[in-house]
Amino acid sequence: MLNLVLFGPPGAGKGTQSQKLIEKYQLVHLSTGDILRNEITQGTELGLEAKKLMDQGVLVPDAVVIGMISNKLDSNKGANGFIFDGFPRTVAQAEALDILLETKHTAISGMIALIVDNEELKKRLLLRGKESGRPDDANPEIISKRIEEYNNKTAPVANFYKAQNKFQSVNGIGSIDEIFASIAAVTNSFN
Ligand code: ADP
Repeated sequence: MLNLVLFGPPGAGKGTQSQKLIEKYQLVHLSTGDILRNEITQGTELGLEAKKLMDQGVLVPDAVVIGMISNKLDSNKGANGFIFDGFPRTVAQAEALDILLETKHTAISGMIALIVDNEELKKRLLLRGKESGRPDDANPEIISKRIEEYNNKTAPVANFYKAQNKFQSVNGIGSIDEIFASIAAVTNSFN
């Protein structure tokens, strides 16, 4: 199986590049942000709780997202592999993911980090907020909070995969196709 973690701060382009990876490698896309937004749309209890946190730009509890990922792995048993997008976002989530995959006799193939500077990120998120109507993209204070959460809790996840020799980074600035070519080259090196 090919199991990729796509990594990078909010606005780095993980969603866009995930779509291209799915097509090329026939993978199942697991975006915790999308799953949570779906829960909100459905009006589930989990969605109502998550919305309060997401609207403030803070992370939802580890146990909640780990449970969601576990369910998705179970419901996609025949998959060629997975793209984890927006997960793991804490070291505790990364540890839990390793254990989940081990019980399924597979493992993370590698992490690919998209490198984009803060100024460019803020620009992209504000633009996305105008176009997509995502409330957490429309407000500069919430964007700053998300970047702060990323720096404090999520950035250390890179070290977790570096310690396993599974970390690679690519430049996240350029055309979508240029960036994808770099990602595909790294992905092929994991195979
Ligand atoms: P982005 O990558 O642009 O920040 P996401 O759609 O991945 O957007 O996430 C939106 C929000 O959903 C986050 O700010 C956070 O509140 C919540 N969230 C998504 N994934 C996780 C996760 N793995 N752990 C905790 N919270 C998460």
